Amino acid sequence: MQPWNIAFLIGFIAYLTIRGVFARRTKANQLVVRRVDALEKALLALVIPTSSLLPLLYLFTPWLAFADYRLPAIAPWCGVALMLAAIWLFWRSHADLGQNWSVTLELRKGHQLVRHGVYRSIRHPMYASIFLWSLAQGLMLQNWLAGWSAFVTSSLMYLLRTPREEQMMCEFLGQEYRDYMRVTGRLFPRIHIKNDS
Ligand code: SAH
Repeated sequence: MQPWNIAFLIGFIAYLTIRGVFARRTKANQLVVRRVDALEKALLALVIPTSSLLPLLYLFTPWLAFADYRLPAIAPWCGVALMLAAIWLFWRSHADLGQNWSVTLELRKGHQLVRHGVYRSIRHPMYASIFLWSLAQGLMLQNWLAGWSAFVTSSLMYLLRTPREEQMMCEFLGQEYRDYMRVTGRLFPRIHIKNDS
C-alpha cells in the first residue's frame, strides 16, 4: 500500500469519527420536519457505497485493478492537502450547526438558522467539504471507479438535494432564510461588490 493510501484510510476514519460523534449528540433531538422520500433515499444509497465500499475494495482487494491509472507523483500529495482541508471544513460545519445538524432533509424542534462560523458566507460548507473530499479521493486512489465515482454521486446529490433543502429552509424559516440567501454563496463565499454610485 502506498503512503497516500494509508493517509486516505486515516482521513476516512477521521471523517467517519466526526460524523459519528455529532450523530450521537443530535440523536435525542425531536424531529419536526422530515422530507425523506424515495429520491433522498436513492441519493444516500448512491453516495454511501461510492465513498466507502469502493475505496475499501480498491485498497484491500485486487477486484478493481482493471480500472487503475497512474497520475504524476505530485498528484496524491495534492490529494492529501485537499483531504486535510475537507476534514477541517467537515468538522467546523458539524460544530457550527451543532444541535441543528441532520444527515438528511430534516428540521429539529427549536431549529435555529446558523449564520456564524463557516456558515457566515457559505450556505453549504458541508457539501463543499464533501466535494473537496471526493476530489482528494480521485487524486489519492488512482482508479477510475474507486477514485471518481464519489465525485459523480456527490455532484448528483448536491444538484438534486440543495434546491430541496433550501426550499425546506425557506418554508420553515421564511424571510430569515431568504435574507441569509441574499448575503451568502452556495459553495463559495459571496463576493460583495460595493456600489457607491
Ligand atoms: N447544507 C448544509 C447542511 C447539511 S446538513 C451544508 O452543506 O453545510 C443538512 C441539514 O442541515 C438540513 O436538513 C437542515 O436541517 C440543516 N441546515 C442546513 N443549513 C442550515 C443553517 N444555515 N442553519 C441551520 N440548519 C441548517
